[in-house]
Amino acid sequence: MLRGELVSEALQISPDWVRISTAAAIELGLKPGRIAGCRCGCINLLQNYPEGCYANCSYCGLARERPGAAEDNTFIRVAWPLFPTDLVADQIAAKEANGGVGRVCIAEVQDARAYGDLVDMTRRVRRRAEEVPISALVSAPTLNEERLRELRDAGADIVGIGLDAASRDVFHDTRGRGVRGPHDWDQHWEIARAARRIFGPWKVNFHVIVGLGETDAELVELFYALHAEEIAAYLFSFNPEPGTRMHDVPRAPIERTRRIQLVKHLIEREELPRDAIAFDAAGAIARLDAPAELVEAAADGGTPFRTDGCPDRAGEVACNRPYGSYRPGEEFRDYPFPPGVDDLATIKSEMRLHEVWRDGGEA
Ligand code: SF4
Ligand code: SF4
Repeated sequence: MLRGELVSEALQISPDWVRISTAAAIELGLKPGRIAGCRCGCINLLQNYPEGCYANCSYCGLARERPGAAEDNTFIRVAWPLFPTDLVADQIAAKEANGGVGRVCIAEVQDARAYGDLVDMTRRVRRRAEEVPISALVSAPTLNEERLRELRDAGADIVGIGLDAASRDVFHDTRGRGVRGPHDWDQHWEIARAARRIFGPWKVNFHVIVGLGETDAELVELFYALHAEEIAAYLFSFNPEPGTRMHDVPRAPIERTRRIQLVKHLIEREELPRDAIAFDAAGAIARLDAPAELVEAAADGGTPFRTDGCPDRAGEVACNRPYGSYRPGEEFRDYPFPPGVDDLATIKSEMRLHEVWRDGGEA
């Protein structure tokens, strides 16, 4: 990027400017190109400030202490081009009139201006596209109950929150005081529960990342806890980003990711009892006791391995985040489309389920 472009990007700030995922920019006709193999059902937007984000999450390209100007960084690895917010809102309205948009998501960063701008940007989209579902992906420290209500009244119907870390300790070490970050585990839960009261069941989600240092047992505990509170868990896979503190941390082994995806599905959709999963001394899944009918139907159907995210108006996953958890050309961690026969064979060989699964009898 040229120096002049950097300077001008520093002036193109929210709420008047917004970053948009490349997939969404293509979907709205703001950029040429196509996304191989799938449609982009969700228009993912991100606030833009010259400093990036004032939080300091150790795996994130927008973190305060990441080397380099924020404008140099890539967020989730593919460039997010900048556009005027009103132009993006107009394009959303045009697409609503011509085939429809699955969902819009506006992501807030940690910044003193961010909350007010999030409300403003939500209203701009809502004014032009009265019916489009809007998620607000919030930064919990900017919020309280009154603000959550204001966000709902501005037009958001779902609140997403990046919990990201599956346990209190991992959260501290990657997002909280351990990295001089502003995030607090308890405050994230308080905001999630307040949002759950205000927005309703399954209208609030936590993003959860596999591979930040948590154990399988911690992930499983979190899935059960969120399911009981009717808060959705949407899975992401850690993918080290150059220049971040965690740039040389290896990714979770693929068999671990696949087993976690399968177990999450069985907990959420099949009421898998807690004692069906046993862990070894390190907290890794050592045994899964579940009926063949359940496990094979889940694995053969492919749903557990698809990207999970906020739904469209018909209840189908809208937010499929192409390239959110893997780079172009890499194997899929989660599939932004229904896995085909070859994909399912790959998934099964990656999962190596025979190492931990015992057929637990009748479904
Ligand atoms: S709050 Fe979000 S955008 Fe900011 S550094 Fe953390 S993960 Fe990145
Ligand atoms: S799942 Fe997608 S649409 Fe929903 S809050 Fe997260 S990024 Fe936004």
